[in-house]
Amino acid sequence: MRILVVEDEEDLARHVAGALRRHEHDVEVFNDGGRAVEAALRQPPDLMVLDLNLPTMSGLTILSRIKQAALPTRVIILTARADVEHRIKGLNAGADDYMGKPFSMDELAARVNVLGRRGGRSNDAAHITVGDVVMDVPHRRLTRRGERVELSPREFEVLQILMREPGRVFSRSEICERIWQREHQYDTRTVEIFIMRLRKKLEFDGLPPVIHTVRGVGYQVLPVE
Ligand code: CA
Repeated sequence: MRILVVEDEEDLARHVAGALRRHEHDVEVFNDGGRAVEAALRQPPDLMVLDLNLPTMSGLTILSRIKQAALPTRVIILTARADVEHRIKGLNAGADDYMGKPFSMDELAARVNVLGRRGGRSNDAAHITVGDVVMDVPHRRLTRRGERVELSPREFEVLQILMREPGRVFSRSEICERIWQREHQYDTRTVEIFIMRLRKKLEFDGLPPVIHTVRGVGYQVLPVE
């Protein structure tokens, strides 16, 4: 993948770039937001690793420029771990994922790979695989580690939305809109109930969680191998 790293802390930028290059990505580093936006508009990268706290142009401004230009670029934001408010703003502004500083380079590389696998042909596939969970869409069958998990039609739909884009955070209202569409009576608490039931069913025999809550934003599915 072609990746732009936008980070003004030079040591961190170098480490991130090095880790991603070891995973055979084509990486360019920018310490300055304005230049990064110019480069992204000239040739949209597949992914941007974006620090939110930058001099001259903030990460949130960069993010909004990218979204305005409707670039196909996926964005992982970097925030100080304590900075919940900025993280939420970033995710609401359209970032695909976030890393709280300090983070491990292995985890960043793993998240980048998850986002890289998303989209394209696999989105239309009849079988969706996320880690140890396999969804057979035409037959409405779900298995985890080969064990059949029985889901109601609505539970299946909620999980399908999350599994089609692993790593992406979906807000409760987005999940509601996708499922109920023009019905205005929906209640975002309904989604919470479906998520609770799905977790109960997916975490049988003490298996680790597949659905994660991102506080103040929504839910995401991450692979468990
Ligand atoms: Ca910074």
